[in-house]
Amino acid sequence: MSYKSIGLDDKLYQYLTAVSLREPEILAQLREETAALPNAGMQIAPDQGQFMALLVKLTGAAKVLEVGVFTGYSSLSVALALPERGSITAFDISPESTAVARGYWQRAGVADKIDLHLGAAIDGLDELLAQGRAEGTYDFAFIDADKENYDGYYERALRLLKPGGLLLIDNVLWGGRVADESVDDTDTVAIRALNLKIHADSRVDISLLPVADGLTLALKRPSVVNIKELLDNGYDSTGYSVNLKR
Ligand code: CA
Repeated sequence: MSYKSIGLDDKLYQYLTAVSLREPEILAQLREETAALPNAGMQIAPDQGQFMALLVKLTGAAKVLEVGVFTGYSSLSVALALPERGSITAFDISPESTAVARGYWQRAGVADKIDLHLGAAIDGLDELLAQGRAEGTYDFAFIDADKENYDGYYERALRLLKPGGLLLIDNVLWGGRVADESVDDTDTVAIRALNLKIHADSRVDISLLPVADGLTLALKRPSVVNIKELLDNGYDSTGYSVNLKR
């Protein structure tokens, strides 16, 4: 028996998928089409898509946020698992790769569930937050975009999630480079920093799973009301403003 996760060589991974993968035909077609594209490695693994779909059903999530769409494998996996009233707010910078995604969303009959915003996701998330009605309303979020902005995406996604909402962060093991001290490129450093920050972050309950390239699950805790801070700001415990004469 081992204390760590089993390593998957090709043979064992093939076995894993052979006995557990239930990939809908449309997802298999999307995976095949994407495999021929440059940056094909940005597509999530099919077993990860299935795991995310299971999480959506497990949590009963209806309102989903996705940062980083690429050709749409994760959004399509999630959309197919959503309830009738479900929706995805998605962000990506590439018109080309998301054109592929849109085609598959349409073919799968889920296009009306997905609201795609093209452009820099940090700006898009800030706009969403500035509208004032989105904060604290999302059930489920997936971050899988440029690693340099991971911390910015994490902070914004955490605000958009409701307490009890689930945040998934992809590529947190980054091909093993996070653990290799000789690697200090911008992406690796950004992922390492966020991993350390989340480890110490009391706003979330966490689990880092060695699924695919490493997937962190962070469950947003109910916000802790700081009574002293409230009193300092002139509020009594009922939430009504009081005039504390001192
Ligand atoms: Ca990824």
